[in-house]
Amino acid sequence: SRIVAPSADEIERAAEAALRPKRLDDFVGQRVVRDQLSLVLQAAVARGNPPDHVLLSGPPGLGKTTLAMIIAGELEAHMRLTSGPAIQHAGDLAAVLSSLEEGDVLFIDEIHRLARPAEELLYVAMEDFRVDVIVGKGAGASAIPLALPRFTVVGATTRSGLLPAPLRDRFGFTGHMDYYSPEELERVILRSSGLLGVHLEHAAAHEIAGRSRGTPRIANRLLRRVRDWAQVRGDGRLDLHAARSALEVYEVDPIGLDRLDRAVLTALCTRFGGGPVGLSTLAMTVGEEAETVETVAEPYLVREGLIGRTPRGRVATSAAWEHLGLTPPAQSSP
Ligand code: ADP
Repeated sequence: SRIVAPSADEIERAAEAALRPKRLDDFVGQRVVRDQLSLVLQAAVARGNPPDHVLLSGPPGLGKTTLAMIIAGELEAHMRLTSGPAIQHAGDLAAVLSSLEEGDVLFIDEIHRLARPAEELLYVAMEDFRVDVIVGKGAGASAIPLALPRFTVVGATTRSGLLPAPLRDRFGFTGHMDYYSPEELERVILRSSGLLGVHLEHAAAHEIAGRSRGTPRIANRLLRRVRDWAQVRGDGRLDLHAARSALEVYEVDPIGLDRLDRAVLTALCTRFGGGPVGLSTLAMTVGEEAETVETVAEPYLVREGLIGRTPRGRVATSAAWEHLGLTPPAQSSP
């Protein structure tokens, strides 16, 4: 998997656990969400009641799971963790719900991927704190209502637009998370380096932050690779030289593009004169599936203003030519 991928596998999740801020005050950035959430939580604590259900929406790696854990921590509540894809049947969710205790926080990652029957069960549970347990099969089946203790759902989604309105409406508070500024990422990795017990020089933090695509997960991952380089090939110091050398080994360029991103951009400029060119043709040229290019490389290139999408295909912007150090042909630069 790519070093600049915004998602994490199980092994990386374990490495990340040590770097998670535990309190709202340690959570860097996302000032608006933090402020809103702090009000919701303080009010709930003051009233001695569980807060409204919370929905966190935003791209992967921005801290949704971390915030869910912080919510549980601030409420001094137990957190149960599950995800949309992990719940295959409504019965799986019923089992989770019926094991909850008063005040628990139930974190449901990728909540937009819940199957429809589970989703319907969840509406009722969130609104009425009740779950209907189906006993028996076919014509003889009956629903036995089971009262649930008051709990709080924290849902996380990368695609809040995909959430059906009835489910979305059950959340009393929705926090929208956005990409972090380089300054915020610098603070994230300076904090992480402290937790890892290494001294990160300021210039190195600045360099890593600039290549991290606005995403704390990527920033922390690059930091770990820089630490490896400093230990194995450097003199142990996490300075600018170590940061640049490590990121060169991993082919992450100064604005966070990796080899695939650059291949797409280079093909677009040098093979197709800057476009417009269809996505599938572009993908074929770099030897990738169209879907990979569209979901893995293109979003960041578009976000960075390097590629434009037009009805006639993809086009390179003047920033793309500039980034590659190439001169655009006179007529095709937008
Ligand atoms: P998500 O659930 O949105 O995919 P995570 O909560 O798993 O993201 O965060 C990924 C990694 O980034 C974790 O190691 C976490 O500690 C770190 N992280 C995310 N947001 C912040 C933040 N605001 N401050 C410090 N570290 C953060």
